[in-house]
Amino acid sequence: MERYDVIIVGTGPAGLGTAFELLEKKPSLKILLMDKLQTSSGGLRNDCKMNFTWPIGFPFECWDEKLGNFYLERVETFLKPRIMEKRNINIYRQRAEKIGVYLLDVRQSHLGTDGGLELIHQLIARLSELGAEISLGEEMSGADASKKVVFTTMREIAYNSLVVAPGRSGFAFLQRLMEELGVQYRDNVVDIGVRVETREEHYSIVRDYYDPKFLFPKKTRTFCTNSRSAHVVQERYGDEQEGFWYSVNGHAWSEQRAANGLVNFAILKTVTLTQPLASGQKYAQMLGRLAALLGGGSPIMQRIGDFRLGKRSFADSFSGDLYDFQPTLASCTPGDISLCMPAKTMRAIWNAFKLLDTVVPGVMHPSTIMYYPEIKLYANRPAFIDDHFQVLPGVYFAGDGAGTSRGITAAWASGLRVADGILESQ
Ligand SMILES: Cc1cc2nc3c(=O)[nH]c(=O)nc-3n(C[C@H](O)[C@H](O)[C@H](O)COP(=O)(O)OP(=O)(O)OC[C@H]3O[C@@H](n4cnc5c(N)ncnc54)[C@H](O)[C@@H]3O)c2cc1C
Repeated sequence: MERYDVIIVGTGPAGLGTAFELLEKKPSLKILLMDKLQTSSGGLRNDCKMNFTWPIGFPFECWDEKLGNFYLERVETFLKPRIMEKRNINIYRQRAEKIGVYLLDVRQSHLGTDGGLELIHQLIARLSELGAEISLGEEMSGADASKKVVFTTMREIAYNSLVVAPGRSGFAFLQRLMEELGVQYRDNVVDIGVRVETREEHYSIVRDYYDPKFLFPKKTRTFCTNSRSAHVVQERYGDEQEGFWYSVNGHAWSEQRAANGLVNFAILKTVTLTQPLASGQKYAQMLGRLAALLGGGSPIMQRIGDFRLGKRSFADSFSGDLYDFQPTLASCTPGDISLCMPAKTMRAIWNAFKLLDTVVPGVMHPSTIMYYPEIKLYANRPAFIDDHFQVLPGVYFAGDGAGTSRGITAAWASGLRVADGILESQ
């Protein structure tokens, strides 16, 4: 059986962060990086806007400010991003603070989906030069932690250290793995909300601040803003047995592509379930399936103009003189979001919308579209046995799937933290 010093599962930013750090500090390590997809580097493929300011992307359960900043600096030193300029921040900030809204001033870079693909090619080529073995199209199916063996769709492989970083799409796999390996876990939060799409002139702040991060009351926030050449997309979740459902998301191409004049961003509410103990993941998946039921298998879209009048949207809500732009995710079903979003979430999001419209007047134009659901799922939170995200001797979990991050830079940082742990243990 082949043996590696370190096997890394998932080529997203968390896995890459671990691999580069290990090879830089100890080039003699024999490292295997695998991904179930044929072409991957996980979430770097999507839009690739990166946030370099605490606490964006860092869950407070795993990080404090000092630690987050320490790792963020290392991520920035490695990635050397081109930080985008911002303008008029104080004007928006003062306007926001008057109504109890907070605007975070975040250092950001944006490569776009095409720029992200270019970065991936460079990173993978660099990793191969450094001696890492990269196996694409190979999926981890399980492990025997007592024998230190990983099972994949192709073979069995022995390891000294195993890093599992399967991202959010791998949350069900991680959940199953925790049960198989006997890793203790706690329920995790879920983020539930809508993706908003509007004309750039109705959300003109994006000309001053690419991805403005607003924090509203009731744990509600704006998230992942895309503009210039922006599109709403859908991701499939679920399985044959319990049924598939879709979460919407958004991305943009780089400035090289022609602009379409549209902006999209999410408004999300964080939901934490406590007593009686229930699974946030199951709850969120039921909401996803409910939306798919009412949407005839697709996400639902509704014009703000219809929503305000308490009316569902129809196909002809998306044409005509007032509703003057076509949805970029046209496969969604025109409908009524309030039939499938829980009232408490709906109220928090609608309240956030009104506050946002006060800070950036125009965003609630009748033509603005809300797409539902946008759901961010994380595996249940593992009980880590050390500060380096180790869950069992020699087994580490990193990245978004394990709930140690919620974005590219924090995922990379979590990978670095794992690498530090592996190096310390040698
Ligand atoms: C459409 C979209 C747009 C986004 N835009 C941004 C953005 O602009 N900025 C930002 O900061 N974040 C963005 N995100 C979130 C970002 O992608 C994630 O926060 C980040 O990629 C998490 O990194 P990760 O390494 O934990 O997981 P991922 O990047 O998801 O990588 C996990 C990898 O593991 C692989 N994998 C899963 N299971 C297995 C298995 N069993 N065996 C082998 N391989 C497996 C997957 O194929 C995947 O390649 C976006 C996400 C989406 C979906």
